[in-house]
Amino acid sequence: MRSEFKNEVFVNFKEEGNNAEYDAALKKVEAELGKVYPLMIGGEKMMTDRKIDSINPANTSQVIGTVSQADIPLAEKAIQTAAATFETWKRTDPGERARYLFRAAALLRRRRHEFSALMTFEAGKTRVEADVETAEAIDFLEFYGREMQRLSLPQPLTVSEEEENELYYIPLGVGVVIPPWNFPLAIMAGMTTAAVVAGNTVVLKPASATPVIAAKFVELLEEVGLPPGVVNFLPGPGGQVGDYLVDHPLTRFISFTGSRDVGLRINERAAKTQPGQKWIKRVVAEMGGKDAIIVDQEADLDLAADVITTSAFGFSGQKCSACSRVIVHEEVYDTVLNKVVERASKLIMSNPAEASANLGPVIDEKAYAKILEYIEIGKQEGRLVLGGGTGEPNGYFIEPTIFADVEPTARISQEEIFGPVVAFTKAASFDEALEFANNTVYGLTGAVISRNGAHLEKARREFFVGNLYFNRKCTGALVGTHPFGGFNMSGTDSKAGGRDYLLLFTQAKLVSDRF
Ligand code: GLU
Repeated sequence: MRSEFKNEVFVNFKEEGNNAEYDAALKKVEAELGKVYPLMIGGEKMMTDRKIDSINPANTSQVIGTVSQADIPLAEKAIQTAAATFETWKRTDPGERARYLFRAAALLRRRRHEFSALMTFEAGKTRVEADVETAEAIDFLEFYGREMQRLSLPQPLTVSEEEENELYYIPLGVGVVIPPWNFPLAIMAGMTTAAVVAGNTVVLKPASATPVIAAKFVELLEEVGLPPGVVNFLPGPGGQVGDYLVDHPLTRFISFTGSRDVGLRINERAAKTQPGQKWIKRVVAEMGGKDAIIVDQEADLDLAADVITTSAFGFSGQKCSACSRVIVHEEVYDTVLNKVVERASKLIMSNPAEASANLGPVIDEKAYAKILEYIEIGKQEGRLVLGGGTGEPNGYFIEPTIFADVEPTARISQEEIFGPVVAFTKAASFDEALEFANNTVYGLTGAVISRNGAHLEKARREFFVGNLYFNRKCTGALVGTHPFGGFNMSGTDSKAGGRDYLLLFTQAKLVSDRF
């Protein structure tokens, strides 16, 4: 039996030695940039003619790697291979399946800075953000491995005198895994290995902006001996290859994390029964957020300003948990706004490879254009008090941006921007603040900064989000500690990193035997 699960400790970059090690890892990774990566089906590596370049968002002339793209015949082959492999993988001892995850965690731990450094280049993550993510990836592997061990134990049932009853969690079949670019290692690895440890086989279609880190993780799975065909690595355009995989009659489930529009599209397509299909496809979808932090009249206002700054601008606001709305009691509104502006104006926006960077670029040109468009909309809807501009022109840099006096119904209060832009709204009372916070189609994270216990109790009951935090930031959920997932248009509340998660990739079989 493994030891009890514990969260991986983060590297402290205030210690110079750790920075020096990270710098060395950056150098090592940089020397290897620009390689060409194959796709992989059933352990067979294939180069295709159609390729995409993965670009460094902080320096768009730097190619991180070139990745082979699948077409429809290869997508078909990947599904068929996953289906054939399922016949053996589903019978593989769960203990063995879990050990592949533990081995992968051990390797990842040894190469921690290398994986993080690659994310600095490919996703524009600062060293702190990248390190936290590699730690989370290790956590997912360690946690889901143990979860499978737990689920494979005899399950508690009411004991009957006449019969022997047992309940088994058996896998579903072939899964299509479509992870996001914003946690290109942790969420990708978590989604993939949760499905696999439960006994399913998968076709993994990495995010188009961050395929190289996914390719490296797939290499690592190969290195620990995961049998060929269990994870099939299939980069390709979402519109074409993604749809084909989702629609396929042999696809049993789809595990998706990404935008609301794509999630809803997958859900609709998966609902249509295809000729020859024998099951109702299961969709696990984690989508967007429009997450609010409420600051009460009685509150530690410095703490409020600290957590707002971190939650809104960490990784340039590109987390679905990021704070994009701040709702402040009118009595303390100006003070909180000024304190946040003061802190945010000190954030250093630069190439995330630099140790001093607090904030890197946004992911790509499309995101850059969209965020700048929202900044223009914000100028009509509120008062620009900080930022709004761009940075170094060879990267997609956007300054931390704060709008004050925004109506709760404004577009920048309602639509997901996914960038370093936050809207401040004034509330006349705590009840009104709560009403504004709930005035959204999303329901992912939220936070309340307050010293008033009765208000916190009310928020506990009525703030309608999957992850609610009091007197702390609304980002940075820890595996096992803060199972993560949201309500309404934020998704199916799958609670990644929680004890319910693996059940989503299994079905329970009850056997009742009278001797
Ligand atoms: N789990 C992450 C957090 O709590 C966010 C995940 C996401 O952006 O998809 O910050």
